[in-house]
Amino acid sequence: MNPGKQTEEETLGKLPLEGLTYPCPRLSDFSLDDNLRPSGCSPGNVYIHKLPKVDLSTLGVIPLELLQGVLSQLDLCTLMGFRRVNRRAIEVVESIPQYKAITKYARNVLRGILSIQLGQWISCETVYEKLCTAECEECGDFGGYFYILTCKRVCFLCFSEEDKYLPLRHGHAIRKFGVNRSVLKTLPCMRSIPGTYSPNEKKSNERLTLVDSESVYRAGITIHGSISSMEQYVLDRSAQKLQDFDRRTSQAMAEGSGTITRRLRRPRTEDPFDSRSGNPMRFMAVVRMPWLNRESHKPEWGFHCIGCQKFHRSRPLHFRRKFTVASFGEHLRQCGNVRNGKHCRVDSEGQSEFRILVDRKFIKYLTIDPGLYDVSDMCFAPTLISMLPPLPPGDWNKGHISHDTSNVHPHFTRIAKLPLPAVTKVSHPLQIDYLELRMGQKLRSNWEIPRLDAETRVYQWIENIQIGPKFLGHLSERGRVIGFIIERINDCRHATPEDLSPCQQALSRLHELGIKHGDLNKHNFLIRNGKATLIDFENSTRCNDAKALEEESRTLQDELRDTTGRGGRTAESDAA
Ligand SMILES: [Zn+2]
Ligand SMILES: [Zn+2]
Repeated sequence: MNPGKQTEEETLGKLPLEGLTYPCPRLSDFSLDDNLRPSGCSPGNVYIHKLPKVDLSTLGVIPLELLQGVLSQLDLCTLMGFRRVNRRAIEVVESIPQYKAITKYARNVLRGILSIQLGQWISCETVYEKLCTAECEECGDFGGYFYILTCKRVCFLCFSEEDKYLPLRHGHAIRKFGVNRSVLKTLPCMRSIPGTYSPNEKKSNERLTLVDSESVYRAGITIHGSISSMEQYVLDRSAQKLQDFDRRTSQAMAEGSGTITRRLRRPRTEDPFDSRSGNPMRFMAVVRMPWLNRESHKPEWGFHCIGCQKFHRSRPLHFRRKFTVASFGEHLRQCGNVRNGKHCRVDSEGQSEFRILVDRKFIKYLTIDPGLYDVSDMCFAPTLISMLPPLPPGDWNKGHISHDTSNVHPHFTRIAKLPLPAVTKVSHPLQIDYLELRMGQKLRSNWEIPRLDAETRVYQWIENIQIGPKFLGHLSERGRVIGFIIERINDCRHATPEDLSPCQQALSRLHELGIKHGDLNKHNFLIRNGKATLIDFENSTRCNDAKALEEESRTLQDELRDTTGRGGRTAESDAA
């Protein structure tokens, strides 16, 4: 186990939020820091046994503070070179406050930078600034990682999804952005170290030379003048290459030279497949980095939310999100407190929302001000119902419970009859009222309507084509459509790698209809009698881009093999 990990676990052992959070997911990231050699071999690890005999000559006359300031601005290669001058140089470098903090709290960041040969691009000062900033530079979440090529603090979701965090091989970069090799030499380039990368544990035995994607993109725009002319140039180039290839092939065939035809290779014009969080190249320039709180001088490695642990993989509820103590508070305010391992929209600080059934006939939506009831009482429906003030009579659907100076007891301060959002993509002749249904997929809160609307639309597209469960009808509440009812697939299980062929069949039928599923994972295929049924279409979209569909097909095999637990849900909860 490397020292970085040890520190991480020790710190997390003392979490103040026990029961609500957990330190690490079951799976390892396999980022660059997991592939570094034991720290004894690192260049910055020389232990000073003896006191220095000679000083730094003319540099010695500069006041130490000034010297430290200058050295902290130097690139790390130069700084490490200076450190090797003599024992006094080691002493001076190790006294630089930024260097001290980095070697104490983020030693693997420094070792990672040097191991992939990016030391000449980065200074101590830059790393220190990132160490003391908690937020991901893309999304503002806690970012527990450092992307070395451009020195950015990022979160797992951003670096594993965004195009700019995929370092590119030179050939790919040249083809994609229409630049030449001499341009690449001026941009941040790394040499990967052989090892195992990504949670899918992909082996990489070569030392790859990779360039930062965003830097090439910008260089490409500068060279070509604009994004559109760059794209046009790239298109023209690949068309030209394909034409040349066709010409050479037909020439060779006309000359009857079969061997030459076989030797001619079709030029590559498309991007290599990027399996995002399964792509090893996305992990070759990324190291975990704690956040150093400048006030407390304590590092925080971040932790995960128990409420987001299972079943969740779209923000704000995503099992990969990491939090600091401060950002976790914000998360609870946004998604509700965690009770019994789940977020419930009951809040001790913000308003809580409820949907209640009155006299088995009327559904009312209530909001309750914070501080009126104990959170645990609000989480247990029978207790809450017994504590609510008497419901005002009349035809209303939204009510607000609060207290004011004239009446300290909770009471209704507002009631109103207001239009509520409804699913609009209604096509099926059958509508079943929610109250007449014994079992159904129910709306929990009005903010779920857009999600249900999108999925309802997809069920219309695949109607009568046996790809998904049968759509049985819309679910309504007093005429307002709030969900749908689909066939329950009994005796089924989730897909495994052995089910590749039936899964491929189901997916290609969906693609033939010009629909991209958008959320492929093994939990979204239900297997029964050797046949695969696709479910969970909330991210599905119309797609005429053959390349995008092909890309989705290509992810299938990896997704079935995935062991990260992404998209994990039980079959029962999907097929209501
Ligand atoms: Zn992010
Ligand atoms: Zn959560």
